[in-house]
Amino acid sequence: MPARVLIIEDNPASMELMVCLLQAYGHTVLLAPDGAAGIALAASAMPDLIVCDVHLPCMDGYGVVRHLKKQAALARIPIVAVTALAMVGDRKNLLSAGFDGYIGKPIEPTSFIPQLEMFLPAGLHAIIDPTARTHGDHSDC
Ligand code: MN
Repeated sequence: MPARVLIIEDNPASMELMVCLLQAYGHTVLLAPDGAAGIALAASAMPDLIVCDVHLPCMDGYGVVRHLKKQAALARIPIVAVTALAMVGDRKNLLSAGFDGYIGKPIEPTSFIPQLEMFLPAGLHAIIDPTARTHGDHSDC
């Protein structure tokens, strides 16, 4: 069974790549361009997983994760930070802020989905293996 994944991201190119990869593996994608929209959509749609950019307009990813982890029903949804932050200690800061995990940008097409699926139960892993078709080069994304 595919997962329903909420992406909170303000960068169109980054959003497009994540959508393309998730859909290539058969997952359903929900989109929010900023933190407030992401929080609202998380509450109404109850996704299986949230992927959240850190640098967002108005409310950054730290604000989003604080908000979500305060609410019992939403706190159970894994939330993975996706960010270009490269400074030593950022991983620790992200995890102590409440993120369940961290994926660095630029997004690596061949490993992005397997990395995300580490935060999903086995029953919600991909039903499609895009590497099984064509040459596995993700040229569609
Ligand atoms: Mn951003």
